[in-house]
Amino acid sequence: MNKIWDEPKKINRIMLIGVAICLAFFSMTFYFYNEVSRSSSEDANSRVMDVSEQYRSAISNQISGDLSTLMSVSYFVDEKELEDVDGVLNSFDRIVKQNAFLRMSYTDQNGTTFLINDEGERMYDVNMLAYEYIQKALAGDVNVSASYKDSISGEYINCYAVPVRRNNEVVGCISAAHRSHRFYNLITSSIFGGKGETNIVDKNGDFVIRLYDGENGFHNLKDKYAGESDVEQLLNAVKEQDKAVFDITVNHKQYISVVIPLGINDWSINTVVPMSYFLQGYTRLAIIFLITSLLIMIVFVILFLFIRNILKDSRESIIKLAYYDSLTGMYNRNRFMDKAKELLNSKKEYVFVLLDVNDFKFINETYSYSGGNKLLHHIGDVLNNAIDKEELCFRDNADCFGLLLQFENKQKLEKRLNKIIDEIGKQHFDENYKVICNCGIKIIKEYYRNGKDIDMIFDRAKLALKRAKGNHVSTLMYFDEKMEEESHKRFIIENEMRSALEKHEFQMYLQPKIAIDSGKIIGAEALVRWVNNDKIKYYPDEFIPVFEANGFICELDLYMLEEACLCLKRGIEKGYTMIPISVNQSKVLFYRTNYLESLKHILDIYQVDPSLIIIEVTESITINNVNGIKKIIQGLHELGFKVSMDDFGSGYSSLNVLQKLDIDELKLDRDFLMADHQGFKQKKVIESVVNLAKELNISTVSEGVETDDQLSYLKSIHCDIVQGFYYSKPIPYEHLIEDIYSKHKWQY
Ligand code: C2E
Ligand code: CA
Ligand code: CA
Repeated sequence: MNKIWDEPKKINRIMLIGVAICLAFFSMTFYFYNEVSRSSSEDANSRVMDVSEQYRSAISNQISGDLSTLMSVSYFVDEKELEDVDGVLNSFDRIVKQNAFLRMSYTDQNGTTFLINDEGERMYDVNMLAYEYIQKALAGDVNVSASYKDSISGEYINCYAVPVRRNNEVVGCISAAHRSHRFYNLITSSIFGGKGETNIVDKNGDFVIRLYDGENGFHNLKDKYAGESDVEQLLNAVKEQDKAVFDITVNHKQYISVVIPLGINDWSINTVVPMSYFLQGYTRLAIIFLITSLLIMIVFVILFLFIRNILKDSRESIIKLAYYDSLTGMYNRNRFMDKAKELLNSKKEYVFVLLDVNDFKFINETYSYSGGNKLLHHIGDVLNNAIDKEELCFRDNADCFGLLLQFENKQKLEKRLNKIIDEIGKQHFDENYKVICNCGIKIIKEYYRNGKDIDMIFDRAKLALKRAKGNHVSTLMYFDEKMEEESHKRFIIENEMRSALEKHEFQMYLQPKIAIDSGKIIGAEALVRWVNNDKIKYYPDEFIPVFEANGFICELDLYMLEEACLCLKRGIEKGYTMIPISVNQSKVLFYRTNYLESLKHILDIYQVDPSLIIIEVTESITINNVNGIKKIIQGLHELGFKVSMDDFGSGYSSLNVLQKLDIDELKLDRDFLMADHQGFKQKKVIESVVNLAKELNISTVSEGVETDDQLSYLKSIHCDIVQGFYYSKPIPYEHLIEDIYSKHKWQY
């Protein structure tokens, strides 16, 4: 039952699992991405290294090519030629054009220089001693200058200078200026999709090939990467002329930075490529992956919420169906039982009450179903208002409601219940109809305080309620142990009745009927006894009402009729003169459509004279159905039976019945006879009934005669027949036969 309450936990667990799966998906994506970046960074390092190597060789080829051009010129320029300055400049002019130099010059040891530029302009006696590359060359070094801004052309240039030796002595030097952008073009051709950058730096990290001094133009690696932690290592490698790869981070972006010594002037080539270039493909893949999983997660969450809502709705309606009464919205029995178990575990005293409406069927039929439903709603409201915090109420079925109330004493409880009943009674249908309620009450003792006993408590209150019913005022009935015994007995009787019939435990006893005038036996009444091991086990008052309620009485009555027939048949066969036997027939039989046929069938089997059988019909049957019973009596007569009206005077007898029904005998109830203690009026009534019967040719039998006084009174009013312990108790029929024939106790 608790399953339904656990459901939300289950749903949340599913939700958690879903989220966990999505998170796992995310983590896997990250892991995958990291792995890919790691392996691709190794790959990237070697790619950057390869490209840098190519640049290195392109630049060093260019420089050494240019230098060797100058070198070869230096070998061929001799003293003689130098005297013909213009001749030398002519050859320089060719070389300038061939090599796309900006200019070319010769400088002697004094620094005196003549030169020619790429436009053929010649200059003489210029002093260039101030230039470092000139000084170096004059000192015997073949060298290349860093970029600097040319004072003549305004362009950035790099200059080569080679010494001119004669007899192993440096007599001068040849130099050529080279536009920086030509180098620059070599190294800045769009590498790595334009994302990479290559610079040539000297030992100090200063850029040696540059084009311009923009505002942001940096002069040094240190400036360019100012503040970045790995730059020191980079500068160190440059200084030490190491070939190395670094991962550097600039503005939170990762770069691969490669340094390779150029082999000229302690210069190094430095290539920097952002790592993202290499991860581009993977990053895109990872982003697609992440977006997809994010979308899946969103769809999952939406779907989940949607399903959870549907489940929640259906759960709520299931709970309503399972635990609430659909008409009044109160708890139903299941829910009540659960809740009651919890409350009964507390230390408080409780009482369980079942309340129902008297003759609810009548209300439904008279004031329609909607009228009935209105009353049920009203009762629900009254009960809900009447209970306290730790109390419960519920609707069990139809017009039956239950209450679990705290208990102090009977007085207080009854006051409370009467108040509830009064409130319920305020629902008016019309002036004349007042709602009557009955309550079955079970006080819950200490030892019942265990969830297991709640069913038993319920059954006991129900039993008490049954007893409360049938009164014309609201009735409160407590369950007591006697009721329990009775219900237990009833249970046993119902359990055993069928096998008892098969085992002939039901026996026919006979009680003689005596003619009051002659004192002769003129008949006997068959009365059933339940005998087991030769002892009377139960008396009819204990089991007849049970059988009338469950219908088994029909089988028993027909069985008793057969027993009577058998007795008559055997007596006749033995040559006895048989007296009529009265057989009791329950009113339940008269509602059976095939009743008369069953009787005929029995007569056919036993072939006894039906006039020896008197059928006793109980008076109460006539209350609602005089015409119906009239027909049956007619049918009984047609079959040849005599008919007696039993228990006359016990119910709502009416003399009208005598006039309407064609009966042969009237049995005055024992209570009627007791009237002789009650006074003159009652006696007059009996006398009148006996007289009326006489006039209608109906014989009168008085039951339960026990005393001489009763007998003489009955004689005095001319009652015909008497039956009672005064003469004999009911006895087994063999005993009666013996009494008649052997002991001659009875005359007939
Ligand atoms: P009843 O038909 O009115 O039967 C008379 C009852 O009064 C019998 O009780 C009988 O034993 C008792 N009785 C007779 N004389 C006296 C007396 O002087 N004083 C007192 N106090 N009682 C006397 P029993 O046999 O216990 O039967 C009770 C009722 O059970 C019967 O009342 C009858 O209604 C029903 N019953 C008995 N046998 C059958 C049966 O076979 N079928 C049906 N349907 N009902 C039966
Ligand atoms: Ca009887
Ligand atoms: Ca009777």
